[in-house]
Amino acid sequence: MFFEIFYLIKLINYISVVKENYLITPIDYLKGVGPNRADLLRSELKIHTFNDLLYFFPFRYIDKTKFYKISELNNTNSYVQIIGKFTNLKHSGNIKAPRLIGMFSDADYNEIEVVWFKGIKWIEKTIKLNNEYIIYGKLNFFNNNFSIIHPEIDTLNNQKKLLKKNLTPIYSSTESLSSRGINNKLIRELIYNIFKNSKNKFSENLNRNINEKYSLISKYDALLNIHFPENQIKLEKAQFRLKYEELFFLQLKFLIKNKESKRKFKRFKFSKIGNFFNDFYKNHLTFDLTNAQKRVIKEIRNDFASNYQMNRLLQGDVGSGKTIVAILSSLIAIDNGYQSCIVAPTEILAQQHFNNINNMLSNIGVKVNLLTGSTKKNDRKGIFGSLKEGLTHILIGTHAVFEEKVLFKNLGLAIIDEQHKFGVAQRSKLWKKNTTPPHVLVMTATPIPRTLAMSVYGDLDISTIDELPPGRKPVKTVHRFDKNRLKVFRFIKDEIKVGRQIYIVYPLIEESKKMDYKFLMDGYESIVREFPPEIYQISILHGKMKPRDKDFEMERFKNGKTQIMISTTVIEVGVNIPNASVMIIESAERFGLSQLHQLRGRVGRGSEMSYCILMTKDKISNEANTRIKTMTETNNGFKIAEVDMKLRGPGNILGTQQSGLLNFKIADIISDSEILEKAREDAREIIDTDPNLININNQEIKKELKKASKNENIWKYIS
Ligand code: ADP
Ligand code: MG
Repeated sequence: MFFEIFYLIKLINYISVVKENYLITPIDYLKGVGPNRADLLRSELKIHTFNDLLYFFPFRYIDKTKFYKISELNNTNSYVQIIGKFTNLKHSGNIKAPRLIGMFSDADYNEIEVVWFKGIKWIEKTIKLNNEYIIYGKLNFFNNNFSIIHPEIDTLNNQKKLLKKNLTPIYSSTESLSSRGINNKLIRELIYNIFKNSKNKFSENLNRNINEKYSLISKYDALLNIHFPENQIKLEKAQFRLKYEELFFLQLKFLIKNKESKRKFKRFKFSKIGNFFNDFYKNHLTFDLTNAQKRVIKEIRNDFASNYQMNRLLQGDVGSGKTIVAILSSLIAIDNGYQSCIVAPTEILAQQHFNNINNMLSNIGVKVNLLTGSTKKNDRKGIFGSLKEGLTHILIGTHAVFEEKVLFKNLGLAIIDEQHKFGVAQRSKLWKKNTTPPHVLVMTATPIPRTLAMSVYGDLDISTIDELPPGRKPVKTVHRFDKNRLKVFRFIKDEIKVGRQIYIVYPLIEESKKMDYKFLMDGYESIVREFPPEIYQISILHGKMKPRDKDFEMERFKNGKTQIMISTTVIEVGVNIPNASVMIIESAERFGLSQLHQLRGRVGRGSEMSYCILMTKDKISNEANTRIKTMTETNNGFKIAEVDMKLRGPGNILGTQQSGLLNFKIADIISDSEILEKAREDAREIIDTDPNLININNQEIKKELKKASKNENIWKYIS
């Protein structure tokens, strides 16, 4: 029995080697590709082998099965095909920019404009008025009118002959490719040449369970139909399979990586809960933890006590209380004889964490230090020494902590606050500070949609605080136009009268910094006029100020010495001043959703009712309107993140550094989130039941992984 299986596996491997060889043939050997074209394909499209070309997917299909009536058109149509007659052709524009405009009328006598800028003479000669034509092109919607510019035009007879090949794939191309003859038609021919006499040379790469579960078509059929769709249904099946494959292998790799990083690294085991933790928890914690906080701390404790290095993402909406989780986790590290560090993206936040944490912990004998870009040279020396000797228990800081000079005695836990402000690369910088990497906890208040998290942080474990501390009232959010400013001022005065404090935030966008500072200053002046210094104290805070002045203003506001804080988005992340209950955002239409949500998160931190007022001019774009509306409708950061992802695309949410991780060939994490969830589940099941992929059913999966991860060093963990 054992031998049978053994030989069966050998046989499968042998057959697939033969099959694979065909597909990894260099592209030079494909019929129709000479040396020049091969070079072009390599340099322009990164196509090196038959397989690469097969996985060069069309980005859309022209559907010539459907004919539209003009009355059916709406502005969600992109490409349309219409049967009708030209009733009129007339010249327009001027000599320099001539235009020919045709009126095209369908059987119901509805009309649409057709416009040409080039080849006008030829068009005039060829087109016969009142003969039937089929036009096909991209629908434009302008001034309440539909038009098509430079449509493809065909006679009815011609089209009938062609109707069989109804879904035509379109491949993306570049200028230099099409000018050198590599156009859509050629790509199709080349791909066709791969398929000729290759039916048995496509090995499967999933397992039987999965194939049956989703009634997947074979890999051969999928690739064939993605390039030469038989019909819409076949095309959809092909797309499903290829998307599934792509997402499945991504998830499988993540899960393997996750498992392996746990197995691979020697880790620090924090096995005990000691005096620091217990003393603080019993005697100094001023509130009860929420259930969500308790659950998350338990998850972290489990990681600490296990045999692997923690790599955990902690998501929690603004104000959900992540800091205390960071503190308690640090205390466990200290109880076990290790140091911890907490890194924040801005000096203000680092400073705030320091004040806050130092306050809480100094009286139980925990030594906390602050290190930022503006820490004085002399102080640095002291801190460096104290870190190396292990006197410092917790180091709090900004990017400065990543510098090579900063060396710990034994860093056991690294916490990164507001992770979304850092790149992925920086996470690993902290690791290099030890031969044994510390446990890593990254915290973010910009919850990224689940699917995005799965695609980018798939190798992290994720904990979520999905509950706010008790007694918090949701922030009431309203949209007000600039012209109603006086009413808003009156409201502010009422709030100040009952002891509340106010934030007023102005946009500061990189490219218009100078103008923005002017707005900020103008704003400041008009606020001062409205809120005279005899009665009101006003703070101002912006990025051009020296750190010391910033701290000074923050302190004044925090201690209630000023009632209004005028600021740029430097207060965006993390700032915690519970008595502030009104957040006014000027030119709110210029802010992104996650920024608006972050800013709103500065209020609603105390027990008082809080307000967020989004000020805009009268007319704002549709997209800005969606953002404002979303803000007024929900306080839920996860929902906001979903909308944000749809508006801006996942790449922009992550920032350029990380969006490279989303270079999918066919899957789309927004529209294919369901497939992604399924793929993740299936991958998880395989890793749980057959971690080393030795089951005979999983050999094809194993092979595919091996192929895909040649450059990624994942393979060595599985074999
Ligand atoms: P964030 O998750 O945005 O970092 P913070 O950690 O700054 O939130 O917490 C916001 C505020 O809520 C702080 O004032 C903190 O002391 C308070 N807080 C945290 N947890 C609780 C709790 N369980 N009960 C009451 N207040 C809490
Ligand atoms: Mg925070």
